[in-house]
Amino acid sequence: MSRQTHWWHGILARSLMAVVGIALLMGGASSMWVSRVVEDRAYQQASLKLDELLDTVESTATVAAFVGDEQLANEVAQGLLRNSEVLRVTIHGQDRTKARTLARAERVQQKIGVTEGNPRGTDGTAPRKIILPSVKRQLYSPFTPHEAVGEIWLDADQDVIDAHMAGAARFISLLLAGQLALVIAAAAAAMLFLVVRPIKAISDRLHQLNASGGERLAVPESHERTELGRLVGDINNLTARLVATIGIESDLLRQKVIDQRKYQDLFENAASGIFVADHDGRLESFNLAFATLTWLSRRRETAGRRLTEPGWREPGQLQALLRNSLDAADNGTLEDDFLLVGRRNDERWLHVAVTPLGNGSVQGIVTDVTQRRSEEISARRLAVTDALTGFANRAGLQNALSDISLDTPSFALVMVDLDGFRRVNDAMGFPVGDQLLLRVAERIHKMLEPGDRVARIGGDEFVLLLAGEQARTTVGARVGQLLQLIGQPYDVEVAGNQEHIDISASAGIAFFPADGADLQGLLRSSELALNNAQAAGGRNLCYFDPAQQAAVEHRRRIEDDLRHAVDSGELYLVFQPVVELATGRMVGAEALLRWSHPVRGMVPPDVFIPVAEDIGLIGEIGLMVLGEACRQAAAWRGSGLDLYVSVNVSVRQIPDALPPAAIAELLKQHGLPAGAIAIEITEGVLMHNVGIAQTWIDSLRADGVHIYLDDFGTGYSSLSYLKRFSLDTVKIDKSFIRDMSADNSDRALVNAIVTMAGSLGLHVIAEGIETQAQLDILRRMGCAYGQGYLFSRPVKAEEFAQVAARINAEPVPGWNS
Ligand code: C2E
Ligand code: CA
Ligand code: CA
Repeated sequence: MSRQTHWWHGILARSLMAVVGIALLMGGASSMWVSRVVEDRAYQQASLKLDELLDTVESTATVAAFVGDEQLANEVAQGLLRNSEVLRVTIHGQDRTKARTLARAERVQQKIGVTEGNPRGTDGTAPRKIILPSVKRQLYSPFTPHEAVGEIWLDADQDVIDAHMAGAARFISLLLAGQLALVIAAAAAAMLFLVVRPIKAISDRLHQLNASGGERLAVPESHERTELGRLVGDINNLTARLVATIGIESDLLRQKVIDQRKYQDLFENAASGIFVADHDGRLESFNLAFATLTWLSRRRETAGRRLTEPGWREPGQLQALLRNSLDAADNGTLEDDFLLVGRRNDERWLHVAVTPLGNGSVQGIVTDVTQRRSEEISARRLAVTDALTGFANRAGLQNALSDISLDTPSFALVMVDLDGFRRVNDAMGFPVGDQLLLRVAERIHKMLEPGDRVARIGGDEFVLLLAGEQARTTVGARVGQLLQLIGQPYDVEVAGNQEHIDISASAGIAFFPADGADLQGLLRSSELALNNAQAAGGRNLCYFDPAQQAAVEHRRRIEDDLRHAVDSGELYLVFQPVVELATGRMVGAEALLRWSHPVRGMVPPDVFIPVAEDIGLIGEIGLMVLGEACRQAAAWRGSGLDLYVSVNVSVRQIPDALPPAAIAELLKQHGLPAGAIAIEITEGVLMHNVGIAQTWIDSLRADGVHIYLDDFGTGYSSLSYLKRFSLDTVKIDKSFIRDMSADNSDRALVNAIVTMAGSLGLHVIAEGIETQAQLDILRRMGCAYGQGYLFSRPVKAEEFAQVAARINAEPVPGWNS
């Protein structure tokens, strides 16, 4: 940076040059002016002198002219020529009218080229050289003063006059130059001492000043109050501030270096990959982990390398992520997962989170998420796949339907269900059932054509989406073939032995979009059709019939309303007394559920209980019923009515929706002994799954809860059940009681049940006693308990105490007849 300094760069040299220059200019101008004045003076004097010369010779010349004496005239002329300024003299005499030259004398010219004559005023542009005129004087007669007798001419010697003038001018110029030189010297000396020297001293001192060492400039002597003094003060202030600032700056710099070293360490040894890149993806730096994660070589230099260098599957997306994060108004972090494919085609999922650094670059953090991604993928696959067959499951079916409805404007949805599969499962166990399902799945798979989809949505329920099939006949033919194929015998392994299984299937067919606009609608339609096919004996197919839709709609409304009813308290219990027939005393009550529908009025339990079972609401309702029954039983016991309350339980509630532990818990909660509650089950419960039912019943009885077998006589009425299960009471179905007086066989049956139950140690309750006659017959048979309209209809809890009081107060019915 330092430029070379020469002497002429110095202030002194420059001021001297300036002064000299100005002096020269002024000197030149003034000497020009002076020489002109001197010139003018010299010529004036010369002219005066010539006039004076003429004065001196005038009288002599007059005489010479008057008398025409040429001799005298010549003498005068020669005399005049003795003056160096005179060049030529001419004297004329006036002879009457004619002029006559009396004398003409001229000095011999010493220099060549001097102008002769009188060129004055020949032209305005002539050089400024004053040409002296010829001096002429008229000569008058000494006697008659106005009579001209002649003339005398004098021509000046221009060279001589010029030489005089030049000498004078030279002298004056020299004088001026001397004066100027003196002035210059004085000015220069003053500047040197007053200005330049102190400035130079300051400058030299400043040059070597050790400001950071605390040194300061000294004010030059006697300059305490001058501008220089102020300048030095200002420089000192400025220096002090500068030194302080530099100190702070260097502290910061040191801290920065330390920080950088720390960061560098963190950066290099971080477990996550870190990179810094500009908005075009040019890498500014990256750490070891980044290189390892992305299979990037670190041997080459970072400069010129790009984020897209590793084998990203979608480098454009990554680039977009970078740019979006830089463009985002909030400068927030953006992140996403990206797939990397290595040279040997090995794949790696990397999570990249980028944050703008504020200088146009982004910092990215990269972590390996391959494990999580693969777990996610397999979880997602599992979520839509049926584990047994590998077909889609219900969720997968939804996807398949979305796919297929994109491809084709219409298709058929076929629901296939194996007839009596449950029996196989129950009889031969789940492993055999699963084997069978797998075989069926294989056969279904064989029938599929490109574009078709298949799912298993329940135990033995398969759904097929037949792409592009709209004609009933083609669909019917394909499904018919499928049913036939499924109907062929199967070889399965049962306990190490090959066994034949024969099973048939039924199918329900619905078309998109006519029979349903979405999966739910299509499934409902095809299920309806399937139900029809099964109701017609199975082993066949049915198409969805729109007329069924109304019934389905009705049922669905009930379903919706029932769901609502549970929450809004439209369900409540009524109680029907159970009476000891011998004494007429009330011993218990059966809890019966009621639904008071806001629009339809009372909905009978025979209608809504099956719906609740179908839609999975029975569990919730059952618990509510049991809880309410316990609460009521506890209330009655509190008021002195020592009753048990029996509760009806459906197949679907057993065992999970109503676990024995929950029942025990409820009893405890209401402070009831186990005998305060009885559970009414039907034969269906016992038949559905023998093992499960047995365990459930045993566990309840072990707790002391009584089990009643309801509606006895309507089902299998298998006596073996009565022996096999440990029960407390049998309730004879009301249909037998109703027909007992008219039908002898019914009376015989009731009699048989009562006798047999007695021999097995079971109590008997006769249901639906409506008449005194029925009551009498039952008493005679020795039936211990009964319930029916004869005693009381089921009543609300608040009316029950009144009914109980009436029943207990009445004389024993029939005793008085
Ligand atoms: P169920 O257990 O056999 O109940 C006895 C049914 O007979 C009741 O009908 C009752 O009102 C009726 N009944 C009683 N005495 C007489 C009579 O003298 N003559 C005639 N003709 N009928 C009589 P309800 O209340 O309509 O109940 C029908 C069925 O609904 C019940 O049959 C029971 O299976 C089911 N049910 C009722 N409440 C519940 C419940 O809370 N849970 C479950 N799972 N099922 C219930
Ligand atoms: Ca019952
Ligand atoms: Ca019953």
